[in-house]
Amino acid sequence: LASNELQQTPTIIDLGDVKIGGNEIVVMAGPCAIENEKDFITTAVSVKNSGAKILRGGAFKPRSSPYAFQGLEEDGLKIMVAGREATGLKLVTEVVDTRDVELVNKYTDIFQIGARNMQNFRLLSEVGMTNKPVLLKRGLSATIEEWLMAAEYIIAEGNQNVILCERGIRTYETMTRNTLDLSAIPVIKEVSHLPIIVDPSHATGNWKYVPALAKGAIATGADGLIIEVHLNPPTALCDGPQSLRPERFGTLMDELRLVAQSI
Ligand code: PEP
Ligand code: MN
Repeated sequence: LASNELQQTPTIIDLGDVKIGGNEIVVMAGPCAIENEKDFITTAVSVKNSGAKILRGGAFKPRSSPYAFQGLEEDGLKIMVAGREATGLKLVTEVVDTRDVELVNKYTDIFQIGARNMQNFRLLSEVGMTNKPVLLKRGLSATIEEWLMAAEYIIAEGNQNVILCERGIRTYETMTRNTLDLSAIPVIKEVSHLPIIVDPSHATGNWKYVPALAKGAIATGADGLIIEVHLNPPTALCDGPQSLRPERFGTLMDELRLVAQSI
């Protein structure tokens, strides 16, 4: 179902005034985690003014350490809704457990399935039973085929609205957090009708490398990007080192327009 054998035309995810997989490059931006309402709304207004169409934020955080900040949960989802009301932006947020699908569904416009849950088949089926778009991140060590089979779990339940997200894979390299597999973009375009976006923030783990890879992703044919933005990265509760400040994000958006025009 994810393959283009049965469907040759690209799948376009329709979120009303925002469409993913069509001619427009769609950028999702916001902090890794929701920390408080004031900062979230300031960030939301800023990324909107720079041209982002979707607001990201984590309310449930699957942290590598159980002692790290785990997110504000439902309070965080309520803050996200305040961000949507203040800006009109659509929301994307991660759901980490089947028990939370119903709750998250009440607030978000797009479910995010994180890299660590790419093969959580029960969770995939659960979001597949809703009709809401699903952003499916590539697993830490998943092949493209395994990733497409994960998408298959969602679509098999009747939800065709899957957006793939390449966010870097584990390799032997240690100078970056992960290794961004840009070749996944033309490969996915060859074998699947699903849209694909790129997350240069988790791919690199370092804000300095984010602009270069964001531009590379657009040049290689990605349908969009998801980028972490924080008002003051050194104080971020999660993923500060890879977060762009709003001003740098604004400059990047201008640069991306030039790349998009030239391809
Ligand atoms: C995130 O988007 O904040 C996140 C946890 O990403 P990933 O699942 O790609 O590590
Ligand atoms: Mn993050």
